[in-house]
Amino acid sequence: MWSKEIFKQMYLSSHGDTTFSTFTSARLIKNNLEESGFVYELDEGFSNKRHMLKGKALSTNVKEISKKKIAVIGSGIAGSTLAYKLAQRGHRVDVYEQNDELCSGVSGNGVLITYPRLSAFDSPYARFCLHSFLFASSFYDSLNSNAWYKSGVFLMNHDDSSLKRQNSLLEARPSNDLFEELSCEEASKRAGLKLNNGGIFFKKGGYLEAKALCQDLLSHKNINLILSSRVEKIEADGKNLTLVSEGEISEYEEVCLCAGYASENLLNFPGLSSKRGQISYVDSSKDFEKLNFPICASGYFSPRVKGSHVLGSSYSEVTNDIVLEDEHTSNKEKLKAIHNFKVNIVDGNVGFRAVTKDRLPLIGINKGIYVNTGHGSRGSTSSPLCAEIIADLIDGRPLPADHEVVIALDANRFN
Ligand SMILES: Cc1cc2nc3c(=O)[nH]c(=O)nc-3n(C[C@H](O)[C@H](O)[C@H](O)COP(=O)(O)OP(=O)(O)OC[C@H]3O[C@@H](n4cnc5c(N)ncnc54)[C@H](O)[C@@H]3O)c2cc1C
Repeated sequence: MWSKEIFKQMYLSSHGDTTFSTFTSARLIKNNLEESGFVYELDEGFSNKRHMLKGKALSTNVKEISKKKIAVIGSGIAGSTLAYKLAQRGHRVDVYEQNDELCSGVSGNGVLITYPRLSAFDSPYARFCLHSFLFASSFYDSLNSNAWYKSGVFLMNHDDSSLKRQNSLLEARPSNDLFEELSCEEASKRAGLKLNNGGIFFKKGGYLEAKALCQDLLSHKNINLILSSRVEKIEADGKNLTLVSEGEISEYEEVCLCAGYASENLLNFPGLSSKRGQISYVDSSKDFEKLNFPICASGYFSPRVKGSHVLGSSYSEVTNDIVLEDEHTSNKEKLKAIHNFKVNIVDGNVGFRAVTKDRLPLIGINKGIYVNTGHGSRGSTSSPLCAEIIADLIDGRPLPADHEVVIALDANRFN
């Protein structure tokens, strides 16, 4: 496995700040490291190993990344995470938001629960779901934001097919650090609420108040948030990128389109459509006010945030944004699998998901414009890794996802 080619590839994927460590200190490894452009030192080893190696890449040959003037269209979770990543790298970022408040699209629709859609089988889709979840969890941790609650998330087996899926996951990953199986009793004890079924618990999952989190992200000193500014047109002539908003024309070195389902007003996306969803706000009550983490089944029920719980969500063909009694009723129906307590719905909210046929986001470059949309029902989980991919594409750095995953996400795949 430790061939010279592997070390060469590691070096090519490295930059000036790249470090490594390995449990092994075998002569072959040391030789290959040296020959490939790394320096190392010996350190105390683990367990019965006397030594381990630590070191860094001598990649002074990596060219300095130029700092660019970049426009991001949309201040939802996708646009805000991307703007933040770019700003952290020293780029100057203008974020355009058509409304007079940031994060006022579907991301601002209640709380967003962050957990993965796992599969027992390997595929680019499964790898993206797993890696984006782990990436999102550690990204939100790194922000130290009060808007991220790393409570864990409980995925309940509420019917035959969810039980079957859970069993095949447990079979494929009998011991792992990602999730643990909980009986109904154990889950109820940890949740602080009598639940109706067992399931699996993702300890790295959680939920976020997206508006507050986006506010934190967009307060970076390199970001200029431009509210009440609808982008009407993007022109890319191969050399310059021009953006027209509110009658003003501005030039940028790069433009990133993160406008959710409305992205197709600015570029043509054959595989993108919108799907309405309604959440119900439930008055907190003694019965469930102490709920410790979100419970997800065919619907979901969140811990108390600002005095109420979020009960979600519908997935409907209706095209207007009026809160509907029918959809409150269907949310209540979904709750029956989770717990038996009576709930009092006090309000609701409607949003439109940007969905694709294969349930993967659209990430990449289309007609000279970077695209970051199609996050469907899992934008809080998928956005941080997608932001990192786009930022690396812009900077010409190695991508944080394997080639098959990058192809599976390609923004042009439905053309
Ligand atoms: C009912 C419901 C429940 C959900 N629950 C969850 C959940 O629990 N967990 C989860 O991860 N996901 C959930 N989702 C999905 C999640 O909301 C989305 O995946 C995510 O918010 C998408 O973020 P975005 O930034 O791509 O889009 P948006 O949040 O829609 O952001 C796009 C922004 O672009 C702006 N914009 C659009 N056009 C222009 C223009 N021309 N010029 C300037 N600005 C423009 C919009 O105003 C908007 O602010 C849910 C969705 C729904 C509908």
